[in-house]
Amino acid sequence: MQKVHRKRLRKFLEPYRVTRGKGFRLKDHDPGDTHQFKSEQKREAKELLARGVEWLSEAQGMLYAQDRWSVLLIFQAMDAAGKDGTIKHVMSGVNPQGVQVTSFKAPSAEDLDHDFMWRCMKALPERGRIGIFNRSYYEEVLVVRVHEALLAKQQLPRKLVGKKIWDERFEDIVNIERYLARNGILLLKFFLNLSRTEQKKRFLERLDTPDKNWKFSTADARERGHWKAYMKAYEDMIRNTATPRAPWYVVPADNKWFSRLVVAGAVVEAMAGLELHYPRVGAEKKKELAAARRMLMTEKG
Ligand code: ATP
Ligand code: MG
Repeated sequence: MQKVHRKRLRKFLEPYRVTRGKGFRLKDHDPGDTHQFKSEQKREAKELLARGVEWLSEAQGMLYAQDRWSVLLIFQAMDAAGKDGTIKHVMSGVNPQGVQVTSFKAPSAEDLDHDFMWRCMKALPERGRIGIFNRSYYEEVLVVRVHEALLAKQQLPRKLVGKKIWDERFEDIVNIERYLARNGILLLKFFLNLSRTEQKKRFLERLDTPDKNWKFSTADARERGHWKAYMKAYEDMIRNTATPRAPWYVVPADNKWFSRLVVAGAVVEAMAGLELHYPRVGAEKKKELAAARRMLMTEKG
């Protein structure tokens, strides 16, 4: 397995990683940022991504064999920011049996009959697996905050819905994430930070390219009207839920080749920290293996 230069990787990721949310400002983060990579170095970036993908594939094999840790990757973003493509590219080398992707859409009647974490807790990755949440419980402090009518549909007892509800949700989320970390779940959260201008460009592409027409939704285009409210909600969410154990990555998303590199880099860096290795067998098992070898070698025919 290739050696990961963790220090170098950490340095590359530093501008995007938020481990303490206090004072976080979205305006300090440029969606068009490509670090030191110029667009003519796209190829180099793609090669690095390919190496990351290869490394992840090997690491996932060990994660599975060890059966101790699990990894949970959460993706949040405005529409057309590239969540689906990022998941597809970053996980492209990984054994499909080791990954579970769950997409969270508007909650069903059954979901609404439970607490907001319920549907996400059911989808947590087993030990040895990588779980991916395409949207998550964070929608509860994003879309639900922007459209408060959604909150009214949640059947909460009235006296529990007050001005502090968002702060209470942040607190509950941080507590649950700490609990998950203490149970061996490595948690990384990605906000794909797309600019409003780039979103418009991508929507127009969906309208202009027949093969992309199916992706266009008028409802998504309507959400653009709430851009400012969304950005405020994202900023507040990151301020309140970025912790060393469950950091947010604010990923510049106007250039897909770059956002994929940042996400892959973050996953590699974090998994390298787990010091994964294949389980070593003990003396007893070695004896058993030697006996099996003898049996195979003495077989007739
Ligand atoms: P994506 O746009 O991520 O590719 P999609 O377009 O395939 O997903 P949609 O049918 O648009 O999926 O479903 C996602 C929608 O569900 C989003 O508008 C999202 O805000 C909404 N949603 C997700 N979770 C919740 C929630 N807890 N409460 C209300 N709405 C939610
Ligand atoms: Mg959508």
